[in-house]
Amino acid sequence: MALKIFKFGGASVKDADSVRNVASVLNKFSGQQIITVVSAMGKITNLLEMLVDAYFYQKGDTQMVLEQIKKYHFDILKNLFPIASHPVYNDVNTVFLALENYVKGSPSHSYNKDYDQIVSQGEIISSKIVSAYLMEAGIKNSWLDIRSIIKTDDTYREGKVNWDLTQKLVTERVPLSEGVGGGITLTQGFLGQTPDGFTTTLGREGSDYTAAILAHCTNAESVTIWKDVHGVMNADPKWFDETKLIDQMSYQDAIELSYYGATVIHPKTIKPLQNKKIPLYVRSFVQPDEKGTLINDQQSQLPIPCFIFKVNQILLSISPKDFSFIVEENFSDIFKIFSEHHVKINVMQNSAISFSVCTDNDERKIPELIKTLQKKFRVLYNDNMELITIRYYNQTTIERVCIGKKVFLEHKSRYTVQLVVKNR
Ligand code: ASP
Ligand code: MG
Repeated sequence: MALKIFKFGGASVKDADSVRNVASVLNKFSGQQIITVVSAMGKITNLLEMLVDAYFYQKGDTQMVLEQIKKYHFDILKNLFPIASHPVYNDVNTVFLALENYVKGSPSHSYNKDYDQIVSQGEIISSKIVSAYLMEAGIKNSWLDIRSIIKTDDTYREGKVNWDLTQKLVTERVPLSEGVGGGITLTQGFLGQTPDGFTTTLGREGSDYTAAILAHCTNAESVTIWKDVHGVMNADPKWFDETKLIDQMSYQDAIELSYYGATVIHPKTIKPLQNKKIPLYVRSFVQPDEKGTLINDQQSQLPIPCFIFKVNQILLSISPKDFSFIVEENFSDIFKIFSEHHVKINVMQNSAISFSVCTDNDERKIPELIKTLQKKFRVLYNDNMELITIRYYNQTTIERVCIGKKVFLEHKSRYTVQLVVKNR
């Protein structure tokens, strides 16, 4: 029977009622083979990041943050499982005990490694709760530790998947029982494991990617990402009044949009699906009977322009200290520095004597990056910038988004325009 991969993100398991809703969505597919990937509940990953900071920098509020995380989960547990002796309490407690012990110890030398060991627990706990609740609700499922399957290198926080090994392990181990209630496997998004057995994460919002990896390796029939929006819209309703749902889009457009910062799909999600022509559905868990958006290999231009807004951008202007021209050598030096600092370039443009780059203004990375650049180059910067990307733009759409803004950089290609702007 054809296998489907479902992904439920943080918003779809943010409280007890949401977890109940996951069960009711799954009930619509009863009897089918499904691997369900869940993220950490609500905004727990952010809290876990705070816990990492508290622990690693020994800020003194470790216990307080941990209590907050515990309370969040236990409130949900109490609501879902009124019987205090339910084994799920023990299960979740065990995870918290280990976490508590971990943060009592002294930090390792590697922030990123500690980050992954701690932050990953959000997915572990969430998947345990959801799995237990589904059982209660009569949806038989088997809980799978995804770290026994998805193997990565030791690039903590950005684990690179070892595809050959992962493929082999999926083939050997993914349990797909076909018994009563269908064969539901419940597992975690976002996580992987190094050859030494340490947990890695695949990058923030990486659960979509997990779903795609599993789909690729199991030759799944489809992937569905269940979201709190109707599907992929032509703009984020947060920024735009009149947004429209896109019924279908090509893999190509989906890659471009997510690459430029549309947050509905994680950018790495599409490639593993495209390689095997596995369709991706983005659907609403609130209105699960609606069709949502289908992303597949059908080449079609989007019917309307799509807008992507990114705030908190910084525009760097980099030039040789002696006002000489920007030549190939400089480029390779500059790119090397960006890559060493793990800074992703959102737009770039060069002139004779300077090279302009717009990136996310990540306070953990950018000051260090600038310091390194300044050893060889003169660096000017503008912060508090916004990056607006329009796919399938026309002049009217450009004018519309530029009202009240000053444009610092404009980069046009055939289908896409990118504008780095600041409020006047
Ligand atoms: N929980 C992780 C995050 O919030 C992964 C995910 O949600 O996709 O980044
Ligand atoms: Mg999330």
